[in-house]
Amino acid sequence: MAAPRPPRYDAAAEEVARTAAAAPDWAALATSARGCVACPELAAARQHVVVGDVPATGRPRFVLVGEAPGANEDETGRPFVGRSGALLDQLVAEAGLSRAEAAVLNVVKCRPPGNRTPKAPEVARCSGWLRRQLELLDPPVVVALGLSSAKWFLGPRTVLAEARGRPHEVDGRAVWATYHPSAAIRFGPNGAPRAGLLADLTAVAGSLGDRREP
Ligand code: SF4
Repeated sequence: MAAPRPPRYDAAAEEVARTAAAAPDWAALATSARGCVACPELAAARQHVVVGDVPATGRPRFVLVGEAPGANEDETGRPFVGRSGALLDQLVAEAGLSRAEAAVLNVVKCRPPGNRTPKAPEVARCSGWLRRQLELLDPPVVVALGLSSAKWFLGPRTVLAEARGRPHEVDGRAVWATYHPSAAIRFGPNGAPRAGLLADLTAVAGSLGDRREP
């Protein structure tokens, strides 16, 4: 996995990685993550650690990975429940996929104040949780939503426009990088990110054998 490493020794990142790796299952990981204070600024400001959603069956057919929780997610403790989440649900359904069969995660589990981009040490610290989540869920397909998530999987030099539109093999999984739904909202219903996100989700559905006839 091309997950970012701390630029130098970071005791908090090492501690998260150790704790996460020791979690035997999703419930244990969620309990540990909810008590995480590795990023003091985020831990002090958050209402919830947004660990992520998993399907009732336990093993998802695919995983959606965003950047970090926003205000609605922080308030409810669930990922992608605000405007971005509503659009994501709509486009996932239009593509012929079902969110109920997906796990929905974020690179960083606590809301950055003011929805700023997570800082590199925060991403590095939270990576231990995400790495272990992917090990436990073992999804065949991952959809990285937005540049922060794409960089986590594909490396720091990733350019979204170049990476999207095809799967990348990472640790035996097919990783698709695409736009974050917030970009699709920002550029409007006729903007390129919305069309690109739908096209990429449709390609993912096709790869899973779920493409819906127009
Ligand atoms: S962002 Fe991740 S590593 Fe940082 S405090 Fe929250 S759960 Fe812990």
